[in-house]
Amino acid sequence: TPELAALSAAIRDVPDFPKPGILFKDITPILNDGALFQQTIDTLTAAAANHMPNKIVGIDARGFIFGAAVADRLGVGFVPMRKKGKLPWQTLSQSYALEYGEAILEVHEDAILPGERVVIVDDLLATGGTAAAAAQLISQLNADLASFIFLIELEALQGRDLLGETTITSLLRY
Ligand code: 5GP
Repeated sequence: TPELAALSAAIRDVPDFPKPGILFKDITPILNDGALFQQTIDTLTAAAANHMPNKIVGIDARGFIFGAAVADRLGVGFVPMRKKGKLPWQTLSQSYALEYGEAILEVHEDAILPGERVVIVDDLLATGGTAAAAAQLISQLNADLASFIFLIELEALQGRDLLGETTITSLLRY
């Protein structure tokens, strides 16, 4: 569609960020443009609404920007999943593999109740390690993961293969 083409045109490819050899998709030009940002939130919200979530989970840090806006549109709670050491209350932790080494994602243990329906929002699906860790935290909380929603999916990295049977929506695929 022309709308998605305009979003795609706004995304900036930045070579060698954050490390040599990585081509980083910079989504900040979308945030910078009121019409594009609004259209992105419209589309992400429509995808999330299909799953009738009780909570939206956003992943540190760009997932906060999109996920919080979607939660506000739907009138449901927003749950930040953060890198280790940032959340002040009692947390559950899940480690996951990075290209080199590992990272830890955390969530407040009382942020999602058993049986709540959750949609995970993030800006980009690459290897899938981050989203899989988020899904494991939801499972540790005995909640029900209804869907993953991404602005961008880098198909060559096959991140979908790490995410099991849960439905995945991505607006732009490269
Ligand atoms: P994964 O765990 O799927 O390999 O990496 C996805 C996570 O890293 C997401 O939270 C995403 O924000 C971030 N990420 C990885 N590569 C890029 C990129 O090229 N652009 C942006 N905007 N985020 C990226």
